[in-house]
Amino acid sequence: LLGRFRHSTAAIPDGLLVTDSTGNIEWANKSATTLLGVSDKRDRGQRVENLIRNPLFIQYWQNVSGDDFVVLPAPVSNERTLEMRSVRFGDGHRLLIARDATERQRVEKMRRDFVANVSHELRTPLTVLSGYLENMDRDQEHLPPRWHRPVSSMRDQVGRMHGLVEDLLLLARVETDTEASDLEPVGAPELVQQVHSDSVVLSAESQHAIEREVDELVDIRGVPSELLTVFSNLASNAVQHSPPGTRIAFRWARCADGVQFEVVDSGEGIAPEHLARLTERFYRVDSGRSRAQGGTGLGLSIVKHILEKHGARLEIESELGKGSTFRCVFPSDIVIEREPRLRVVSG
Ligand code: ADP
Repeated sequence: LLGRFRHSTAAIPDGLLVTDSTGNIEWANKSATTLLGVSDKRDRGQRVENLIRNPLFIQYWQNVSGDDFVVLPAPVSNERTLEMRSVRFGDGHRLLIARDATERQRVEKMRRDFVANVSHELRTPLTVLSGYLENMDRDQEHLPPRWHRPVSSMRDQVGRMHGLVEDLLLLARVETDTEASDLEPVGAPELVQQVHSDSVVLSAESQHAIEREVDELVDIRGVPSELLTVFSNLASNAVQHSPPGTRIAFRWARCADGVQFEVVDSGEGIAPEHLARLTERFYRVDSGRSRAQGGTGLGLSIVKHILEKHGARLEIESELGKGSTFRCVFPSDIVIEREPRLRVVSG
């Protein structure tokens, strides 16, 4: 039986590694040598962190919870990518499974590059079209009357395509740089104020009661332009999906995990079966309506990727007919405390 176990585990293409309750290696299969450079004979009794030294791995190994996994270059070759997952079993034992994900990553990169290239190529022709259509629409007296509506409709549609292309390019960019490198103080309280003013303008006809509550003594480090996109997307969704006159609140405040930005609306709400899928590309609860309102269906997907890049998470709570709360929770390691004297007085 033992012989059969050895033969079958040796044939498994995934690298497998078992550690005891103190974190020392107890056993590894053959693929663990080719993928991880860990040998059953040589490395027994060693700590995993001493053999796989990538900081991302060490952070994962020490904090792993639930279904998490981590994607890293293989310790034996930078050209291969591994997906590693750790599961606990028995009496504090752990199993590390390393799967070669090089091909999947390559295909995924091809998909991203393709979408980004197509979007980029579409940008110039769309700019030319929209320029001409704008001129024709403005110069209506030189157009035969039967062309007034078609030209105006073409102008709207080209505008939508333009928005879509810009969102696709932004999504491709935030999907590619998954690590925020040069983080700087974002000025989050000011961003929230700005988003508040923009939303008041956006809601001009609908006259929402838009409130804000901002802790000006707390900021975060991040990419300011990207976080402005996140806050604006959530704010404009609240305006778009709330009936005229209803209340919308923006809140920037400390929380147990660090600091959070919250958008609370008392609008149409979202049924529970849609919640988990909202951040998928092009997922809309009511696609006809979203399109009619100029939505691209990419907003929340962009939000999710930017937040992931900042180590933050998006929480959504909603009840049909009652309203929704979209909450961005930023971890304490990017929080910056501000001196009270830097306090910004809002008008
Ligand atoms: P869209 O461009 O359609 O707004 P998003 O990705 O921003 O795309 O949002 C996806 C879908 O989530 C929307 O089509 C809408 O159905 C739903 N949604 C987003 N925000 C809200 C909200 N505040 N209230 C109700 N539904 C919302």
